[in-house]
Amino acid sequence: MMEKIPSEVFNISEKLTQADYKAYLVGGCVRDIALGKTPKDWDIATNAKPQEIQKLFPQSIYENSFGTVAVKTNSSDESLKIIEITSFRLEGKYTDKRHPDEIKFAKTIEEDLARRDFTVNAMALKLNSKFQVSNYNLDRMESFIDPYSGEKDIGAKLICCVGNPTERFSEDALRLMRAVRLAVELGFTIEENTASAIRENAPLLNAIAKERLRDELIKIIMSKSAMQGIQLLEDMSLLKYIIPELRSGINCEQNLHHIYTVWEHNLRALDYAAGKSYPLEIRLAALLHDVAKPQTKRGTGRNSTFYGHEVAGARETGKILKRLAFSKETMDKIVHLVRYHLFYYNVGDVTPAGVRRFIKRVGIENVEDLIKVREADRIGSGVPKAVPYKIRHLMFMVEKVRKDPVNPKMLAVNGTDLIEKLNLKPGPIIGQILDILLEEVLDNPEKNDKKLLLEEAEELLRMSYDELESLRQKAKNRKEEFEEGIEGELRGKFHV
Ligand code: ATP
Ligand code: MG
Repeated sequence: MMEKIPSEVFNISEKLTQADYKAYLVGGCVRDIALGKTPKDWDIATNAKPQEIQKLFPQSIYENSFGTVAVKTNSSDESLKIIEITSFRLEGKYTDKRHPDEIKFAKTIEEDLARRDFTVNAMALKLNSKFQVSNYNLDRMESFIDPYSGEKDIGAKLICCVGNPTERFSEDALRLMRAVRLAVELGFTIEENTASAIRENAPLLNAIAKERLRDELIKIIMSKSAMQGIQLLEDMSLLKYIIPELRSGINCEQNLHHIYTVWEHNLRALDYAAGKSYPLEIRLAALLHDVAKPQTKRGTGRNSTFYGHEVAGARETGKILKRLAFSKETMDKIVHLVRYHLFYYNVGDVTPAGVRRFIKRVGIENVEDLIKVREADRIGSGVPKAVPYKIRHLMFMVEKVRKDPVNPKMLAVNGTDLIEKLNLKPGPIIGQILDILLEEVLDNPEKNDKKLLLEEAEELLRMSYDELESLRQKAKNRKEEFEEGIEGELRGKFHV
């Protein structure tokens, strides 16, 4: 529980009131105070206009069109470095259901609170010196302004619209998602009338900029109760406008290795990742890892199969994340995790060369994350199959072979060496030779010695281009046989 209002916030408020403006704490920070939590950021509302605020605070930036001025403080505390001051506003007209067409300023805090989304977000607190000194109790503060009984709704743990829910959602459809996000973050329930209005107005989400949807989705995924969040999106009829692909997992029964439907399994995998406080990429990979199981399902009942669901799943995941305007970097990472979530590892069956090939295939930088996704998959299945010691053994093996060469760049010879030492001309033959050498080094890293590899290359040069190409293909096929082998075995065992 926070003891007092930070001096940075208090000083800004003082400066505004000394210049004869009004100043109130509003929004999330008042909600947090009422919940007995320390706010993670501070918002001040004032009747001063943006230009007037800027005059008072030369250290400020005004670069949006919503009347918000960001004031820089010299605080070392992250949550206090920037304090946002917003001029009192009225609800604007939203012809595009996204942004108000124009901002209209309001005269009073009451008018400003009326345009806010939910009752728990529509409370204001006027600062005065009393707050500097003692724990505060909202009930005793005459300067606590709560026209929509937000404090009561906080007590009842309810998310409830300010005013008529249908009107409020048609003004700005992002509120549909904000309701779910807040409910999930706070552990609240959505009040009945608000909930029916969300269901009725769900299609309005189509009009929302994907970036705004994405940002709310990220907050839901990053909350402790991410699983409940996705379930609530579904219950509110919103999921079909965000990630409809996940919905085909609802009622999609799996085979003898699972006790949950695909939907429930995906959700439980996410739940595990959230419980571990894993980063966004792992959480989304956990949620999406089996997204393509319904479309790859063959057969019914205990012996149904889902061959290729990891490949189809990677494709679907890419489509989903692209549509939701995730960055290419985030998208690529998650797609990769989904593509390779299905690796097989059995102590004893897999050799160091196998582990090197695994690293070559998935990238050393992804190994740990893949193991996390795998773990989420395992726990989320309800019938854990891979046992933790296998994972520890794999980690141990990865450590052991970590420095061994797994790509042509890590070989002790490179193209230039071949050209200079063996008098070769640049051309496809260089790549052929390097690929063949790498295969040998994957099997036996001791061979990664410049002299040895050059000798080996010289031997190879006696062959014709076609012979070399067939050797290279053979090496490649061996790799594929190996991969097929592990996946084939896994399939046999687990019907995946
Ligand atoms: P947090 O910052 O903890 O995520 P918050 O409630 O502060 O939660 P912000 O997005 O920072 O959320 O918004 C600040 C305040 O602005 C909200 O509390 C609410 O009063 C108001 N607000 C934000 N978005 C909307 C909206 N789309 N419609 C109406 N009011 C909104
Ligand atoms: Mg905020």
